[in-house]
Amino acid sequence: MAILEIRKDEDPILRKISKPVKIFDEKLKQLAEDMIETMHEADGVGLAAVQVGRLKQLIVVDLYDDQGPKVFVNPEIYEESGEKLAYEACLSVTDTQAPVPRPISLKLKAQDLDGNHLELEAQELFARILCHEVDHLKGILFTDKAVDESLMKEEEVQE
Ligand code: ZN
Repeated sequence: MAILEIRKDEDPILRKISKPVKIFDEKLKQLAEDMIETMHEADGVGLAAVQVGRLKQLIVVDLYDDQGPKVFVNPEIYEESGEKLAYEACLSVTDTQAPVPRPISLKLKAQDLDGNHLELEAQELFARILCHEVDHLKGILFTDKAVDESLMKEEEVQE
């Protein structure tokens, strides 16, 4: 296990497109473990591989519930419904929080670390984190989608 360096702010890698994972080997498992450790060390709820300088379609999420950390390889959101505004932040964006509209629920296809295909539904905070992390794989940061703070009716601080 190792703590990886989190890329931040104007680092150009954050704007690059991540590539699909095709090889499901021990190196991929090691990277996922290191990403989980790095996320925990930074008190984050999600991390994409690009944020530690690897352009792979790999994300980790932890809701700090009884299910433990989750790993999604080649994640793809294929259905969204509803919309809700809430504050977001990002381990790669220093000292910034802003309201971002995200779907209230979504469906996601992905693979696990062995390459098995899976599908799941996510709501509320879990859906928001998945959107945020999948955006990272496309070179999109939450600040690209943030709206004016005056549009926030209720305050909810996340990530
Ligand atoms: Zn982020």
